[in-house]
Amino acid sequence: MRIAVIGAGIIGAAVADAMAARGTRVSMYEMRSPGRGASQASAGVLCPYTEATPGSPLLALGTRSLAMWDGWVEGLRDRVTSRFHYARTGTLEVALAPDEAVHLRRSAEQLAAEGVAHQQLDGAALRQFEPCAGASALSGLFIGAHGHVEVSALVSALMESARQRGATCETPAEIIQVEQKQDRVRVRVGDRVDEVDHAVIAAGSWSGRVRVADVPAFAVRPIRGQLLHLKWPDASAPSRSVWGTRCYTVPWPDGSLLVGATIEDVGFDEHSTVAGVRELLQAVEALLPGSCQATLESVRVGLRPATADHLPLLGPLERHPRITLATGHYRNGILLAPYTADVVTRQILDNDRDPMLDLTRPERFW
Ligand SMILES: Cc1cc2nc3c(=O)[nH]c(=O)nc-3n(C[C@H](O)[C@H](O)[C@H](O)COP(=O)(O)OP(=O)(O)OC[C@H]3O[C@@H](n4cnc5c(N)ncnc54)[C@H](O)[C@@H]3O)c2cc1C
Repeated sequence: MRIAVIGAGIIGAAVADAMAARGTRVSMYEMRSPGRGASQASAGVLCPYTEATPGSPLLALGTRSLAMWDGWVEGLRDRVTSRFHYARTGTLEVALAPDEAVHLRRSAEQLAAEGVAHQQLDGAALRQFEPCAGASALSGLFIGAHGHVEVSALVSALMESARQRGATCETPAEIIQVEQKQDRVRVRVGDRVDEVDHAVIAAGSWSGRVRVADVPAFAVRPIRGQLLHLKWPDASAPSRSVWGTRCYTVPWPDGSLLVGATIEDVGFDEHSTVAGVRELLQAVEALLPGSCQATLESVRVGLRPATADHLPLLGPLERHPRITLATGHYRNGILLAPYTADVVTRQILDNDRDPMLDLTRPERFW
């Protein structure tokens, strides 16, 4: 079987690797270079209990994917020489105002009801647990199951693994049209047409620009995120991911601290702005006062692929079942990568449909 994967971000790379592992001939097409879309900007936090509301479909998808991460990373590390940082050191939410403290108490009750391990901390306990928290912090909520990963290096590792398994990646190659004719799929690459058995569209925010005959444009739109890369001055950087309501931070072993992220509806504009940087600097100063001494190393910008209900467009098209969508992962594309790769592979190769795909049908907005 030959399969085309359009887009080589975290999602395309994960799908290509999983499909190639099953003996499929995978041809990837990438209009930039692998991982240079939203994925390179990502903070790489894996935190479904913070990102999704209790009982929501996003929480169900996120927790299923989170449970796959350890095994996914272990298998990948065994196969490739590319190294990437991955840690399950949890997230610490911090309340800086009374209403935020109430919110954390409610979250803790919900976690307790779902049997999710967590720790509630009052102000003093919080500062002992995380000395970087400011004197005015009121309380904290620690969720140990959460983690984070170094995304660009992870995409390189996935590409290395996929290539080892025979996948190819053509770049720069922008696909503008995909068409199913009986049991073949035609992928237009410039003046050339490649024929494959199945195509997966994993083009992130640009997915709506990939045209498929007889169907409306896919309802994915870009939501810009700016993220700061700071360097903490000494060894006293926070040792875990710390979250406030206005920003979150992710520590790296080398003393780097990522600070994310703005949420901006500005179309396909991938520039950083003074306003965005100022917003994040002010927010991180309130959350971790010691950040004032940090150096500002760089600003990353990415376009999150968003849908109206913040769930991905995942699964085959009803009208063209040999064309599958794997896009629209919005704020959780890194978290959802192993689940997405697995569910897409099983659907295409085994006709094994995960019932969760009823929630992510690409047609639900038409
Ligand atoms: C600032 C920021 C912080 C984030 N933090 C987190 C986080 O902590 N945790 C988390 O889980 N998620 C996070 N996200 C979201 C996450 O980064 C995205 O959901 C994820 O990267 C989407 O991956 P993707 O592969 O679908 O898209 P992308 O990474 O954008 O990849 C799509 C690829 O397709 C290519 N492409 C597009 N159109 C075509 C075409 N027609 N032909 C060929 N190639 C094409 C692009 O060049 C690109 O390389 C964050 C995002 C941002 C911006």
